[in-house]
Amino acid sequence: MDNSTTSGKPIRCRAAIARKAGEPLVIEEVIVAPPKAGEVRIKIICSSLCHSDITFLKLKDPPACFPRILGHESVGVVESVGDGVTAFVEGDTVVPIFLPDCAECRDCTSNKSNLCSTFPFKVSPWMHDGSSRFTDLKGETLYHFLFVSSFTEYTVVHTANVTKIDPVIPPSRACLLSCGVSTGVGAAWRSANVEAGSTVAIFGLGSIGLAVAEGARLCGATKIIGIDVNPEKYEIGKRFGVTDFVDTRSCGERRLSEIINEMTGGGADYCFECVGKASLVEEAYACCRKGWGKTVVLGVDKPGAQLTLSSFEVLHTGKALLGSLFGGLKPKSDIPILIKRYIDQELELDKFVTHEVSLDDINKAIDLLLEGKSLRCVIWMDK
Ligand SMILES: [Zn+2]
Ligand SMILES: [Zn+2]
Repeated sequence: MDNSTTSGKPIRCRAAIARKAGEPLVIEEVIVAPPKAGEVRIKIICSSLCHSDITFLKLKDPPACFPRILGHESVGVVESVGDGVTAFVEGDTVVPIFLPDCAECRDCTSNKSNLCSTFPFKVSPWMHDGSSRFTDLKGETLYHFLFVSSFTEYTVVHTANVTKIDPVIPPSRACLLSCGVSTGVGAAWRSANVEAGSTVAIFGLGSIGLAVAEGARLCGATKIIGIDVNPEKYEIGKRFGVTDFVDTRSCGERRLSEIINEMTGGGADYCFECVGKASLVEEAYACCRKGWGKTVVLGVDKPGAQLTLSSFEVLHTGKALLGSLFGGLKPKSDIPILIKRYIDQELELDKFVTHEVSLDDINKAIDLLLEGKSLRCVIWMDK
């Protein structure tokens, strides 16, 4: 890429803008400012649509805000870099990731955490410095989303939120690793550390739950139980390694945990809650194995939701309960490993991509996901 005509100057390009809660995105021209110190400007190749984009499009109250450029699963090429940036150069293929990894703070240098303290993760409408790089043609500020904002031909992202990757992986597969698929695979691989031969129960077989199944399959789990309200999820789940299924609508008076405990002879080694419901976290905890069972929380519940666990049970069962943001993955070091495992034909990413559209048809991608017809729809910027 020759950036001699654009570097240091604002770029006018096309973007999909969320103007009003719940309304279709609007394709408009926007102005993207040059990157400031510590930032890079990225030419987006493609994005994939994640449920969180729709959640924030539909949300009427804060943390929702409009007008905003959504999109946070993507891949692109560095167009120019801001002052002081040495880790990236023009032409690098990169994946922007909502979870910061400064690579320098106490947490980023520890292999026990993926929660940066220099740039703590938050749902902010701004860049880390509290400002925006986007304006519309009338000069109105457009808000950022999850430090990424990828439904645009160009975006600006802080280097803490950018991972350099090997361009050998096709863009339509690389973008998946920005959020959902990595979160699920990482939860099994990093957060739970699922071992070969173990038993896994997954509450909710949406994209994240299916990615957990893929991760558990990759780790050699032998029994992978999918749990969902939609019985059709069993057939889909099988392609991702699900071996057994519980249709929650056919449980009758019995508790889910009772059924899973029975199926696993005393509890699953690893339980994953992928729905975002406190009562399901409690069910998952109740059916992970005493002594060594781990329950991993991935679902996003309503703000203020509380868990109720008996402290007697916590003491007497020795089970672990942990939360897993971005699957416990450290973006800069773990994403390249996942890419290598894809290239080595171990990690199967292809089956997650069910549809592909152009930026002009981005609202079709939203409809497909809302109707439950797609897992991941890739949105191409240039096609
Ligand atoms: Zn850090
Ligand atoms: Zn996401």
